[in-house]
Amino acid sequence: MRTIKFVLIFSLFLITGSGCRSQTTEHGFSGESAYQYVQAQLDFGARIPGSSALLATSHYIQNTLTQNTWQVETQDFRFRDVPLSNIIAKKGEGEKIILIGAHYDTRALADQESDIHLQSTAVPGANDGASGSAVLLELSRVLDPPAGTQVWLVFFDGEDQGHINDWGWSVGSDYFVHQLTEKPTKAVIIDMIGDKDLNIYQEKNSTSTLVTEIWMSAKELGYEAQLIPEYKYAMIDDHLPFINQGIDTALLIDFDYPYWHTTHDTIEHVSPTSLQVIGDVLIHWILTQ
Ligand SMILES: [Zn+2]
Repeated sequence: MRTIKFVLIFSLFLITGSGCRSQTTEHGFSGESAYQYVQAQLDFGARIPGSSALLATSHYIQNTLTQNTWQVETQDFRFRDVPLSNIIAKKGEGEKIILIGAHYDTRALADQESDIHLQSTAVPGANDGASGSAVLLELSRVLDPPAGTQVWLVFFDGEDQGHINDWGWSVGSDYFVHQLTEKPTKAVIIDMIGDKDLNIYQEKNSTSTLVTEIWMSAKELGYEAQLIPEYKYAMIDDHLPFINQGIDTALLIDFDYPYWHTTHDTIEHVSPTSLQVIGDVLIHWILTQ
């Protein structure tokens, strides 16, 4: 399947005579297509846990995954009387399980706003929420898991409500890891990876061997300016529940994002090029597993 795709794209280059790098690479991942998935999520409004917008987004994600021939299930539960739902999509056969995860909820309060009147407004979540989920949806469109490998794409609810109504962070991923009957071999969590000015540093709570593998993939693709091989932040995010269960996990996050948890986390700060970088790196890494 991949060989056929490569031949088709190569033929296209011959016909057009174009040697330049486009937004679509030989594996088919398109940053432009991922960008459309960001917009589609924003069109539902703020995706706050338990809201009708989050439910509509969940249906949209499930329908997209099903159309892309993934096996889809939801994991529904209640937390503090609010219904939460993780979405799990699986493809491929084999004992090796590669999990790629992102949260699809958005923060109910823009508490990093300098204007106090805006702090009670919801975060639109173009980068913080929609970008990671969009990359997962685009992966579902193009990815064929390698032989002997299952790929799980997991969309977590309830990541981003920490300190609101006494909630913690990563409620959905914490529930998910405690329901596992078979553990993923390796997991990668992506969050806030769509910033136009993409600077992803290595994250200190991640499994270091996995960090090395992923940053090596980025280097091989010429993306060292976007995935910088230096440790910088230690984050609380959906990777921690996995780490605490002894699962090798890495977090990809660009925490140098000035619009984090503000009302300005909007589509104009997200770029198809950044989404392309993440898609390219993830596919390159998955295909070397
Ligand atoms: Zn957040």
